[in-house]
Amino acid sequence: MKKPILVSACLLGEPTRYDGQSRPNSRVSLLLDKYELIPVCPEVMGGLPTPRTPSERVFEKVLMRDGRDVTEEYERGAALALERAVEAGCTLAILKERSPSCGFGKIYDGSFSGTLTDGNGVAAELLSSHGIRVIGETSPELDVLLSCADKQ
Ligand code: SF4
Repeated sequence: MKKPILVSACLLGEPTRYDGQSRPNSRVSLLLDKYELIPVCPEVMGGLPTPRTPSERVFEKVLMRDGRDVTEEYERGAALALERAVEAGCTLAILKERSPSCGFGKIYDGSFSGTLTDGNGVAAELLSSHGIRVIGETSPELDVLLSCADKQ
């Protein structure tokens, strides 16, 4: 049985981003052969449309660029992503870096100026607090996962 890994849907080519685009990542896609990749998009799962106005975390809230408070949608989507991860038995998540949902370690700072700050996206934070290890798509750990899979 393949090991399940939770993955941001946009990294697998699903057009779920705020601008209606995806961010396909060839290293992540290479994992498809050897792992069971479970795609989730917490923002869509939380009920937000695509395309949508971009959002950033501002302290404990998530606000759209026009000031609308979408914290509830982000929290709902994070809870559903966690539910999916637990159901599938994931202990690892590969999530899109810098996103207000999926980013881990660094996210945009709420000024909508492209400035990064220390912090986590809402879903990444919830997953991590429930013991699921979160890494980004540029993590060197992807190479380790690929080389381990080659030896299976
Ligand atoms: Fe990608 Fe996550 Fe944003 Fe969805 S919420 S588009 S999966 S970064």
